[in-house]
Amino acid sequence: MIVMKFGGTSVEDAKAIDRVASIVHGRLDKQPVVVVSAMAKVTDTLLTMARAAGEGERKTALKLCRSLQERHYNTASELLGTARFTEFHSELGQDFESLDELLRGISAVGEITPRTTDHVAAFGEMLSSKIVAAAFEARGLKGAHIDSRDVLITDSAYMQAVPQYEETNLKLQEKVLPLVKAGQVPVMGGFIGSNRAGITTTIGRGGSDFSAAIFGAGLGADKIEIWTDVDGILTTDPRLCPDARRIKVISFDEAAELAYFGAKVLHPATVLPAIQKNIPVYVLNSRNPSCEGTRITTRAPHTKNIFKAIAAKKRITIVDVAAPRMLLAHGFLRSIFEAFDRHKVSIDVVSTSEVSVSLTVDSNQAIPALAADLAKLADVKYEGRKAIVCLVGENLRETPGIAAHVFRELADKKIRMISQGASEINLTFVIEEDEVPEVVQRLHKTFFSELDPEVFA
Ligand code: ASP
Ligand code: MG
Repeated sequence: MIVMKFGGTSVEDAKAIDRVASIVHGRLDKQPVVVVSAMAKVTDTLLTMARAAGEGERKTALKLCRSLQERHYNTASELLGTARFTEFHSELGQDFESLDELLRGISAVGEITPRTTDHVAAFGEMLSSKIVAAAFEARGLKGAHIDSRDVLITDSAYMQAVPQYEETNLKLQEKVLPLVKAGQVPVMGGFIGSNRAGITTTIGRGGSDFSAAIFGAGLGADKIEIWTDVDGILTTDPRLCPDARRIKVISFDEAAELAYFGAKVLHPATVLPAIQKNIPVYVLNSRNPSCEGTRITTRAPHTKNIFKAIAAKKRITIVDVAAPRMLLAHGFLRSIFEAFDRHKVSIDVVSTSEVSVSLTVDSNQAIPALAADLAKLADVKYEGRKAIVCLVGENLRETPGIAAHVFRELADKKIRMISQGASEINLTFVIEEDEVPEVVQRLHKTFFSELDPEVFA
């Protein structure tokens, strides 16, 4: 059995869903379980309409809802043809009626809570999974729609709910496995679940990959395929560096580091349920299905190349906290981290000296208030327009002299906050944001000119 997850762009319109059907058709012998995202941009639109309704802008919310309805109707009718669509139409119609009603309720109250937000957001995956299942049937695939909210059981932390594995695994055995055994192709929405009381939850933006990994792990799948619109994980962002190449095999740890530092292909949390079960994850391109993509494995393959990839994350702010009098007094770091916590600002890179701490955060509106808060403890400075550059590779662990080599290449650049995480597979530093393309291109040229053909395409 395999789990095939298709992201938003892979189900963005009738043409895309048609491609999905033929990709799944080609893997029927592997007993696929299909997980889909909402159609591209739909979750954003749903959240916008929820917010509008919460601000009492009923008209705006309902108008957005109608445009979404039209898009889903058009896609379904194109995929299903008139006769089938007439039947299916009323099912979709009911969903949009509920959404409409929900939005009217929210705008009447004039308040949007995380719980109601999830109610609205869940429509994206509910609708896309129904349409994909119906499209499968229309193409002779035995598509069987399963409402993921009956399977993925979570806690009640709305918008960021935590999956409850034991209960979810039982549901997988009970609701999904029998269909697979009967030769059907279950189609489920990612991202959505419900708590023990049956109230709709979501597991965080981009969570469909995570859903696929949870389902794959729970079902003991042979592999998990994450279908996107790129050829896999590349050595770097091709928009920054046209020489970027595809990585054929990468370890879970390397992929996770990359995901944290800006590579958008894979949600880092995806990695976890799959790692634990030793299930390989493939990143594949639904627009180019014959490309073999990137395989993510528990252990890195043996190769001479030191690095697998370079990631860059822009829009970073450095916060410097200096307390000469404290000399890192007991409890000082804790009070600093607590301030970040209070302002819900999460930290990427930290470096400390005897009397100061530098931290990087994504640039956001909370920083001035956070800085004001920190100023009660110590001297605070912050500076935006920075970027994190991160070189990743398991071979870094065993190869001496690499840092020297990297920084020799960048001898004319201002480098801040060098750090090598405890995993020892990344070398991370902070530079000026506008120097990202040049720095990445230079490093790529240095470390990715001669590549092991077993590992890089
Ligand atoms: N549709 C959800 C989102 O846009 C989940 C996903 O696509 O993975 O965040
Ligand atoms: Mg995604």
